[in-house]
Parts: sequence; C-alpha cells; structure tokens
Amino acid sequence: MGGPFSLKGRKALVTGANTGIGQAIAVSLAGQGAHVVCAGRRACDETADAIAAAGGTGESLLLDFADPMAASDIFDGAGYSILVNNAGIIRRADSVEYSEADWDAVMDVNLKALFFTCQAFGKALLADKAPGAVINIASLLSFQGGIRVPAYTAAKHGVAGVTKILANEWAPHRITVNAIAPGYIATNNTQALRDDPERAAAILDRIPAGRWGDPADIGGTAAFLASPAATYITGAVLNVDGGWLAR
Ligand code: NAP
Repeated sequence: MGGPFSLKGRKALVTGANTGIGQAIAVSLAGQGAHVVCAGRRACDETADAIAAAGGTGESLLLDFADPMAASDIFDGAGYSILVNNAGIIRRADSVEYSEADWDAVMDVNLKALFFTCQAFGKALLADKAPGAVINIASLLSFQGGIRVPAYTAAKHGVAGVTKILANEWAPHRITVNAIAPGYIATNNTQALRDDPERAAAILDRIPAGRWGDPADIGGTAAFLASPAATYITGAVLNVDGGWLAR
C-alpha cells in the first residue's frame, strides 16, 4: 500500500467537483488512489469521466448547499476519511449597495454549509474512532479585504477561523483540519476579473510567479494535505498563490 503520499484505500468527498478547482482536486486525489465522490448541485459526470480515463475510481453525487445542511446525513457508516469543502460562490457589488439576499446566499454556501458539512464528517469519524483529513478552500480574502465582495471576504475569514477551531478540537482524535488559500486561479470564479483588461493586468503584474494559478496547482496541494505525509499538519491555512502574499 503506497508510500507517504498514497491515498490508496481512502474514500473522499469533494464538494463543487463539477468544474474548476474542485474538479482538479477530485482528479488529483483519485490519481493518488482515493475513491472520490464528486459532489455538486449539477452532475459531476465530466469529472468522474476524467478520473476513470486516468485509471482511478470516482462517482457523482448531487448535493445543493443552498441548503447548508445538505450533507448532514451522508457520512454515517459510509467510510469516508477525506473531506474537501470546495463549493463556493462570489457576488460582487459595492458595499453600500450590497443586498441582504447576496449576503445570505454567499454566507450559506461558503461558510454555513462548510461548517455543518465538517460537523457531520467529524461526528461520523469520532463515532468510528477513525482518523481523517478535512481540507477547506479558503482564499487570499481570508487575509486581505478585497474590493466589492464583502460577504465573500467575511465568509472566507470565517473559513480560516472554523478551520482552526476544528483543528484544535479534533487533533486528539487524529483528524487534521487545514485550509488552502488559493491565489488567483483561472476558473469561472475569476472570469469577471480576467474579462476586465485593467484588473487582469494589475493582478498579473503583482503575482511574483508571473502567471495565474492553474486548478491543478491546488489539486496537488490537497492531495498532499490528505496524505500520511501531512498527519502532523493541522490548523494551517496554506497559501498557494505564486508568492502573492509574500510580496
Ligand atoms: P467555480 O468554477 O465557480 O467553482 C465553484 C464550485 O462550487 C462549482 O462546482 C459550483 O457549482 C459549486 N457550487 C456553487 N454553489 C453551490 C451550491 N449551492 N451547492 C453545491 N455546489 C455549489 O470556481 P472555483 O474557482 O473553482 O472555486 C472553487 C473554490 O475556490 C471556491 O470556494 C472559491 O471561493 C475558491 N477560490 C477560488 C479562487 C480563484 O482564484 N478561482 C481563489 C480563492 C478561492 P456550479 O458549477 O453548479 O456553479
């Protein structure tokens, strides 16, 4: 059974796995041998096909976090040992114009669903006295303020906090809880920024690595954090940003 980076024999749930970063994480975990359940509010067939084409195993599961409790009963007795909370949305408007509906929608998916999915996963592992790994997808806006995204910034700061408290509570039970803070990654989430020539040029100019991130950059990091090599890493919010925060 594999080396310190192997995920053979492990079962993972990745949320928002139909596209972007979630899809890359699902493919990466499967590439290390995990069986990956790819969850989304739309079917994740493309991701499951990519996993199968690379010789791995995965399946698609419908989960819509418009209901933040959507995952509350899926972990009991199901044998999961890896959870990646990746599903997220972004709504842009000046703070003085920001609507309550946008605030609630962003908070529900990006923070409330993330916490209660962690809770359900943790409960199942504690009941089985089984070890596991949680990886939450945070953001540079877990550290910085951003512009015109107040609910997103509040939620992502919250993701960093939730990651740390759960790490504290669950470390004695051999469950690690970490977050990845992706830099600027070329996905649907950042399409509006890349469509704005001035913002796009300003962002690229500030990234020390000199390129936007690729979803696979995050996939590899998630596979590492889920692996035996990372069992002493917990409560970390790891920047994967081409040097952005170091600048
Ligand atoms: P994306 O392509 O828009 O992916 C977001 C994923 O979340 C999609 O699979 C989306 O499904 C899913 N999702 C949204 N609402 C959902 C709901 N109610 N129930 C279930 N799934 C839902 O963007 P991405 O960049 O890959 O984003 C993935 C994560 O990375 C997010 O948490 C985002 O905040 C974070 N992030 C991204 C960047 C970046 O630069 N791209 C930087 C920092 C953090 P649909 O396809 O159906 O909408």
